[in-house]
Amino acid sequence: MPKATVKVPTPLRPFAGGVSELSLEGTTVGGIIRALAEANPSLQRHLFTTEGRLRNFVTVYLNDEDIRFLDREATPLKEGDVVSIVPAVAGGTPGAARGRSHRGTTGEVPTSPADAFSRDDLRRYSRHLLLPEVGVAGQRKLRQAKVLLIGAGGLGAPAALYLAAAGVGEIGMVDFDAVDLSNLQRQVLYSTADVGRPKLVAAKERLEALNPSIRVVPHETRLSSENALEILAPYDVIVDGTDNFPTRYLVNDAAVLLGKPVVYGSIYRFEGQASVFDARHGPCYRCLYPEPPPPDMVPSCGEAGVLGVLPGLVGVLQATETVKLIIGQGESLVGRLLLFDALALKFRELKIRKNPHCVLCSPHATQKGLIDYPAFCGVPAPGAASVNDGVPRVEPEALHAELDSGEPPLLVDVREPGEWAIAHLPGAHLIPKGELAERVDELTRASKLVVYCRSGVRSAEATRFLLDLGFSNVRTLQGGINAWAQRVDPSLPQY
Ligand SMILES: [Zn+2]
Repeated sequence: MPKATVKVPTPLRPFAGGVSELSLEGTTVGGIIRALAEANPSLQRHLFTTEGRLRNFVTVYLNDEDIRFLDREATPLKEGDVVSIVPAVAGGTPGAARGRSHRGTTGEVPTSPADAFSRDDLRRYSRHLLLPEVGVAGQRKLRQAKVLLIGAGGLGAPAALYLAAAGVGEIGMVDFDAVDLSNLQRQVLYSTADVGRPKLVAAKERLEALNPSIRVVPHETRLSSENALEILAPYDVIVDGTDNFPTRYLVNDAAVLLGKPVVYGSIYRFEGQASVFDARHGPCYRCLYPEPPPPDMVPSCGEAGVLGVLPGLVGVLQATETVKLIIGQGESLVGRLLLFDALALKFRELKIRKNPHCVLCSPHATQKGLIDYPAFCGVPAPGAASVNDGVPRVEPEALHAELDSGEPPLLVDVREPGEWAIAHLPGAHLIPKGELAERVDELTRASKLVVYCRSGVRSAEATRFLLDLGFSNVRTLQGGINAWAQRVDPSLPQY
């Protein structure tokens, strides 16, 4: 007889000896479900009516197909098939449905008054205390935990809210930005009234209002090789919500050197990734990506855009992994890379192995300390001169005067068509930066060029590119079309 795996859903596990899956023999799906019920008699009434029919709120899947669209209970089984019982779930717990149970709290006697939870705490965390996997012991671990969030942006915002709500005792946050109106589309930690305020001031206020019993520790600084070890050292778990590679490698390396887990998340347009890097038990970020991609291949969210709910989802995945690490329950993402595609609404999972030659976490590690991360990633250090600093520039007011003169320059807009649709300068010629190399012929006849983009980064790169090709009279519009809108034509929207 073929052997198949039967997946038992959480609500039914108490009636099946607590197991999540069983390997059973059977020739049909109905046969194997009956075999399961026979082996666990208390399961019988949950699955079958008194007449012996499968209850109609119990949905059964063979692999990923509903058996009602196959041969129902008569659907034949092959060796290695997976049969899943999928009950309807409405968000409650069997414990709660049976009245106020305090499972998970039994045997949990506070060891000292300082260790005890107040009446309000017990009520606040009631839905945690009901879970045997958390209970008072887990809630106490959460209260004693110290979690550091690197970045208080798209990923850090939702992660911080859930960690504060969960009762993580100390939440450190590293960031030095102010809240910008364009952050609010995804950074749900902030409100419209916070625009212009330092992020960490607004974050501390919001998180401590959400849960006054926790402490939020702001580190209002740029994380660097000089301060990273000192900032990370007091924390148990590091949540990486950075948006740039130098900081990502810095966080990884510092965490490996200090022996701490990093809960990793990253986002790009509609796609997200999450994992847990803990070199003591699995791979580190360098095992997955020994080297960063070249800087011109990695547009930031500011350039590429991002679906607002995506960092919410990935940040909440990071909060989930953080809570699991703290309470020591479940299976963490160590050694697994979770990929999420919001457009297809699909999760995929890839295995990540420890690199036996990793320069940082292998037995043959050659790197014993922190390095110069901007140099490693090929990007200019914060505040340092960039290769594009030397390109000729024109200020918006000067360009305005030139456009009114007898010899106006040709304007080249190197943004994407969607950005062009928001606003563009009259008479400009649109060539997205990625198409510049193949469409450069469209520009050769103009004697004078001014290149612009949103804020001046892409146009400086495009100007450098054109100068290298031999164009002699090219300049970049300083501050991009946003600066133009601020200083020359306030009727244009900024974005
Ligand atoms: Zn490694």
